[in-house]
Amino acid sequence: MKEKPIRVDYRTDKKTKPIIEDIEFGREFTDHMFVMDYSFAHGWHDPRIIPYQPLTVDPAAMIFHYGQSVFEGMKAYLSPKGDALLFRPQKNIERLNRSNQRLCIPEIDEKFVLKAIKQLVSLEKEWIPTKQGTSLYIRPFIISTEPYLGVASSQQYQFIVILSPVGSYYKEGVNPVEILVENEYVRAVVGGTGEAKTGGNYASSLKAQEIAERNGYAQVLWLDAVEKKYIEEVGSMNVFFKINGEIITPALTGSILPGVTRDSAIKLLKHWGFKVTESKITIKELIEAFHNGILEEAFGTGTAAVISPIGSLVWNDEKITINQGKTGELSKRLYDTITDIQYGKTKDPFGWSE
Ligand code: PMP
Repeated sequence: MKEKPIRVDYRTDKKTKPIIEDIEFGREFTDHMFVMDYSFAHGWHDPRIIPYQPLTVDPAAMIFHYGQSVFEGMKAYLSPKGDALLFRPQKNIERLNRSNQRLCIPEIDEKFVLKAIKQLVSLEKEWIPTKQGTSLYIRPFIISTEPYLGVASSQQYQFIVILSPVGSYYKEGVNPVEILVENEYVRAVVGGTGEAKTGGNYASSLKAQEIAERNGYAQVLWLDAVEKKYIEEVGSMNVFFKINGEIITPALTGSILPGVTRDSAIKLLKHWGFKVTESKITIKELIEAFHNGILEEAFGTGTAAVISPIGSLVWNDEKITINQGKTGELSKRLYDTITDIQYGKTKDPFGWSE
């Protein structure tokens, strides 16, 4: 797309900002949103920032019928100096384009989109909550808008960015959770869309999550779809284990979402001198490591929680309690280091904050 200035239509009736302590994730939205259209004839065009408002979409729009859509999730943090900081936003935008490729959605201009997101965040800076652990969640997404009921890829799209102030994920400090190993349902299959961030992956994960929650578990541990043997992800997070002083995380073999936090954790762990292996690991091997007394820590990584320690895992009739159900030293160190970089509180050796 030829770079055009972003038109801004300011809102005159500003919303009242919510009290951050009372806020539930993803319920409140800021005053403005970014929108850009795609048509076959004009490509991506008409980038604009407009007051936050409902969309006018034809009921035959393809998004409603065949789910051709992609999204991203990232956050803006307020630094002690009062600057709005993004954490590796380029990684999210690159991932959005990889999701676009998988879902047959036209790619976006990454540089331009980063500029647009920064402009929107800067306009809404007052919405970034100031309390420790809080942030402004950024949700870019693309929907297929062509009114057509044929099963094909749409020739019209809308790219939208909305912003939502979010409270601290951990209100009482980092807390380990109970996890159920899912034996029946699967999240993704190699050759499917698990590597992409597309709504359908999340729709199909709800059933297992609902059952797990009903039985008192926070999330499920997903196994591979073919043999139900290899560990893939935990809830909507990537998963890491510390076994005998070394770190292992499932390799990205096609059905796992390549998390930005996963990549950051791997880089930090290596920087600290840990051996990090990205390879297949079976649930059996994990349980064996536990029985041999060498499973030291387990944790999930993702934008929402950053690091989420796993306190216990239930597989069939067996329950294993990891690190006595407490937050491990390494989980804590990763959480503290990543969040300090995100909030601009420490030297950022990787240049991740911008
Ligand atoms: N896996 C899935 C399925 C997810 O939805 C997410 C959240 N985006 C992650 C892993 C973690 O990715 P990230 O670290 O980029 O948030």
